[in-house]
Amino acid sequence: QKCNAGEVVVRCRPMNQRERELSCQPVVTMDCARGQCFIQNPGAADEPPKQFTFDGAYHTDHVTEQIYNEIAYPLVEGVTEGYNGTIFAYGQTGSGKSFTMHGPAGSALPERHHPHGLSSPPRQCAENTKFLVRASYLEIYNEDVRDLLGANTKQKLELKEHPEKGVYVKGLSMHTVHSVAQCERVMETGWKNRSVGYTLMNKDSSRSHSIFTISIEIYAVDERGKDHLRAGKLNLVDLAGSERQSKTGATGERLKEATKINLSLSALGNVISALVDGRCRHIPYRDSKLTRLLQDSLGGNTKTLMVACLSPADNNYDESLSTLRYANRAK
Ligand code: ADP
Repeated sequence: QKCNAGEVVVRCRPMNQRERELSCQPVVTMDCARGQCFIQNPGAADEPPKQFTFDGAYHTDHVTEQIYNEIAYPLVEGVTEGYNGTIFAYGQTGSGKSFTMHGPAGSALPERHHPHGLSSPPRQCAENTKFLVRASYLEIYNEDVRDLLGANTKQKLELKEHPEKGVYVKGLSMHTVHSVAQCERVMETGWKNRSVGYTLMNKDSSRSHSIFTISIEIYAVDERGKDHLRAGKLNLVDLAGSERQSKTGATGERLKEATKINLSLSALGNVISALVDGRCRHIPYRDSKLTRLLQDSLGGNTKTLMVACLSPADNNYDESLSTLRYANRAK
């Protein structure tokens, strides 16, 4: 089996209002041309900044469209050629994961921040080619899987294993889409349902992983009139916030749930780093639902992209450093 390490980029969002009000200082700098990211420990100003190198480094003034064009588009294009592609957004809550994957919540931002984050569908269609495009959207919350587009979004679904199809979610609804607009509407519907599981929680915290999957079947007829069928799948994975839960003072149910988030993120980190190391025979996919589900979409025939999202502010130094370390392991 061929190991495929995938690409890792880092993105730092601008300082938000709260950080400005607290007079936070920026601690993240970048040499974007070299894909380098530097982070200064605010508690040790005499130490040199820690340095990390990635496949891309996007600073506060970069727009999502640029990341899409430079890094995501080749992957999306691969899906139309029959490869699987998986894009992850990783980072602490509030670091810009959803902004990167789905685009801004409102539409108050300049046009170039649209369209729709990295999830814009493929742009071109060839002649003599037919596409069947289907979308599904699930959420993993507390190690329970739910269908964000299902008739009952509260119902827990089971993971099953099929000798040929591999791991799949029993009963997950698939929605045929005929246009970009329709695909976006489907995504929007599921996105709104995401909150169902955590209405009692802090509104802004993102405690679930969500996976929006676009499956494409391509029927093409070549010059000789021969049919070809290719199938590819694009997974857009918005991961739960990576913040260390011990620090958030969580107790009871909340702590249990938090522990599961940390477990699945570290399981994902272990799978990716095992793939990177080339230890392809012992990939610990079974350690979490997230990694089991993504088993056929990590490594092998899949192109992956991880966008590690950062806050620029000094008061997030510990979390940002841990995000950079996680991302560094995934290279
Ligand atoms: P997360 O999904 O990681 O919890 P969000 O994507 O919701 O974080 O981002 C938190 C806030 O910061 C949102 O209001 C979002 O619009 C804003 N934001 C994030 N990234 C950027 C960016 N690159 N440029 C401008 N605003 C951003």
